[in-house]
Amino acid sequence: MNVEFTILQRGYQKHREEFEEAALRALRSGWYILGAEVESFEKEFAGYLGVKHCITVNSGTDALILSVRALGIGPGDEVIVPANTYIASVICITENEATPVFADVDEYMLMDADALESLITDRTKAILPVHLYGQVSSMERIMMIAKKHGLYVIEDCAQCHGATFNQKKGGTFGTLGCFSFYPTKPLGAFGDAGAVVTNDDALAEQLRLLRNYGSRVKYHNEINGINSRMDEVQAACLRTALAHLEEDNLERRRLAERYLNEIRNPFVQLPKIQKEALHVFHLFPVIVDDREAFQRYMLENGIKTQVHYPIPPYVADCYSGWNYDWEDYPAAARFARQEVSLPMYATLTDEEITHTVNVINAYKN
Ligand SMILES: *Cc1c(COP(=O)(O)O)cnc(C)c1O
Repeated sequence: MNVEFTILQRGYQKHREEFEEAALRALRSGWYILGAEVESFEKEFAGYLGVKHCITVNSGTDALILSVRALGIGPGDEVIVPANTYIASVICITENEATPVFADVDEYMLMDADALESLITDRTKAILPVHLYGQVSSMERIMMIAKKHGLYVIEDCAQCHGATFNQKKGGTFGTLGCFSFYPTKPLGAFGDAGAVVTNDDALAEQLRLLRNYGSRVKYHNEINGINSRMDEVQAACLRTALAHLEEDNLERRRLAERYLNEIRNPFVQLPKIQKEALHVFHLFPVIVDDREAFQRYMLENGIKTQVHYPIPPYVADCYSGWNYDWEDYPAAARFARQEVSLPMYATLTDEEITHTVNVINAYKN
């Protein structure tokens, strides 16, 4: 039996009629960018999260870049970001010519709140926790530290749509929450798309300008903006996907529960989950000593795995001028060397989980 790492086709097929109806509705409307579908999706997503504003943009990366910009963060300013993350969480800082300051991660593979205070300087402007793999970071502690030092908080929610910490949804704790709707994410479009959410009226207004050439009224360019807008076809399809997000999250949680209960192998360490967290398992990361051997073994048994992420951003080639060592952030370095993601998506079948579990339980290091 073969188990693919992900099959987007299945998600589409599952709600094919609804998606096609939504896409056709947008195509037939004659209005293709920032229209009624975008407006409705923004209202529905804000309502789902329980926030005042949702401002859609072109991608999760743009959501992050424009958020840093809207807060006026730029050259000379520092933003604290976890050492274990996807590079987009760092690009948004360097793109604004500010300086990332890395915090090592905890046993949950998330920003270590205990590491934060020693990293704060008089140049620190914001903390940027990343709710990686689908688990919200320890937000109550992070918010307390941010308040104490007067810092903004930008949440990278690209992997945690619908996940909660003490019943509160990721993206609703900080100043701004940034979402990606890249097709594989828990809430995925059929192309690039993203959004920023906030309860702050002035920031929401600023973001609406930033995404649209800095303009509210055509040809009146008030601030230095860019073009980062969501199109109507994506918004229409996202409205359908949002209507099914809770059932998809429930299904991924059920499948993850099977992995957690049934994988029994001393060579394979399962992910740890905070007791306050409702994890939505965008990914299912395990830790193994010899990753190459494990991935080869899995592939020989028909199971595709991936790594998230093999090179920590602080040692990425594009940032080689910083001269960091891998070992500067030992926990992040260990995850980058030993993490493997197992197949995990809402349309994965129980037979596929059973096969994957059996293969893993027979693995000998
Ligand atoms: C996917 C992702 C992003 C970037 O989102 P895009 O829509 O691909 O630009 C940012 N941060 C994290 C953690 C992500 O997983």
